Parts: sequence; C-alpha cells; structure tokens
Amino acid sequence: MLLLLLNLYLANEPGRNGSQVYYPTILWRFVQVDTLFETTMHISDELIQLLRQARRVVVLTGAGISAESGIPTFRQAQTGLWAQYDPEELATRAAFRRNPRLVWEWYAWRRQLVQQAAPNPGHLALAQWERLVPGFTLITQNVDGLHRQAGSQRVIELHGNIRRVKCFDHDHPAESWSEAETPPRCVQCGSFLRPDVVWFGESLPAVGLHQAVTAVRNADVLLSIGTSALVQPAASLPLEAKSRRVPIVEINPQPTPLTSAFNFVLAGPAGEVLPAIVQRIHLNTVS
Ligand SMILES: [Zn+2]
Repeated sequence: MLLLLLNLYLANEPGRNGSQVYYPTILWRFVQVDTLFETTMHISDELIQLLRQARRVVVLTGAGISAESGIPTFRQAQTGLWAQYDPEELATRAAFRRNPRLVWEWYAWRRQLVQQAAPNPGHLALAQWERLVPGFTLITQNVDGLHRQAGSQRVIELHGNIRRVKCFDHDHPAESWSEAETPPRCVQCGSFLRPDVVWFGESLPAVGLHQAVTAVRNADVLLSIGTSALVQPAASLPLEAKSRRVPIVEINPQPTPLTSAFNFVLAGPAGEVLPAIVQRIHLNTVS
C-alpha cells in the first residue's frame, strides 16, 4: 500500500524538480503497477541527444540488473537449508569468527548460483556503450562479476566480488584453493580464506570509492540502474552528481525513494531499456 501511495504522489506531480517522469495517470485506478510501467516506457529524443553528446558517462548498477539474470537478491537466496538463517547474521566478521565453516558454505552456495548465471542484454548493452565513449565508468554494488563477464572493462566493484577470495587476517588474495579443509587456509599466513566481499560493518574499498566519487563529480551524465537507492553510500552518488548539475537518469521497473530527484526516469527493466538506448545512440553516432 505504501508503494502505491508513493506512485500516486509521483504521478500527480510529474514536473517536480524539473523531472521528466513517465508515470501513467491511470495509476489512479489501482491497476497492476509493474505491467503498466513496462508497457508505457518512453525514451525521449531529448534524453538520447543528452546521452549521445556525453563524453564522460557514469553508470551505477544494483541488484535489479542481476535479478534479470536470475540471481536472487541477498534475501531471496535464503531458501531450502539456508531459510533458517538471517543473512545479516552470516555476512559479518563476527559471524565468520563464530562459525567460519557455516559462512564459507553459505558463500559457496551463492557462488554456485552466480556461476550458473549469464550476463543479460542489459549487461551486454553497457559493455557495448563503453566501447563508444572515451570516458565510461561503471560503478556496481553487485558482487557477481557479470559486468566483466559481459565485456565491461572499467568496473568499480564497490561491494567486492563473490568469485574472489582473500584471507581473513591479512586480506592476502588467493587465486585458487583446496577444498580439503573448510574453509581453506591462506598459503601465506595460515588464516582462513573468506569471500572478497564487503560485509556489514566493514568499510568499502577506499580506492574504489574515491574513483567512484571522482568519476561522479566529473560526469556529463549519471545513470542509476536497478538500485533500490537504499544502501549507502552508493545511494548518495546520484545526489552528489545532481548537486553539481550533472543530469541524472533512473532506470528501474519500480519507483525508488529517490525517483522524484531524477531528471529522467525510465520505468522498465534494464534488459529492455539499455539495448534500446544504446541502439539509438549508436545509430546517431554512425549516421
Ligand atoms: Zn593470509
């Protein structure tokens, strides 16, 4: 019900903050919201013109684009044997100290889900767009590595990568490991290996965060794709861009708490919106 009230509010004030918000007024009728968003998406010529001219493009992606590849979100992964555990009690240093085997096995299960997935047309379109633009920075909150798998080169993984491991005591990276012991041990220091992801209570990688903020501040345009706009500090990056008069674009099937702040809102799945955008930019570039 809360979501519906938010939709009504946005639909009723389409011009707020100069935004172009394409929410149909039919929302007043309380019809199925998701279907409507997908079928009424419109990509304006003004937006394509802006994106075509942008030399420094920053893209921020979140769980939504991974979900389109069938990767369950953090909480959705809690099925079967894992349903009894709260993910926030598995993804901490304290949890690993308490029961390293349990935490390692939870990540092994999630790593398996990721390895079974493949990049979707949204990932592939971003990799294609990067090849068209001199300054293209992709900042992701996702840990599945699908952007690199799709061919993206300049990727800042703010929350790490579940396919990599490092040791618990000294962050020594490990390329491979033996499954003889669970968790395996670091060959350099003997401490347990753990996934190279950012756990609750841990800092984001300083270098990556600095690169992300610098890219946002110097951007010609920023796109926020499939993020809930709830997790900090990634959620604040669009607002940082906006404070510097950088146009900001949201692509998400559902509205987020930040939707009304965006200059352009495309209410659809990344796998449909991004190929359409890149095709139109590309057509304009080569003609
Ligand atoms: Zn080590």
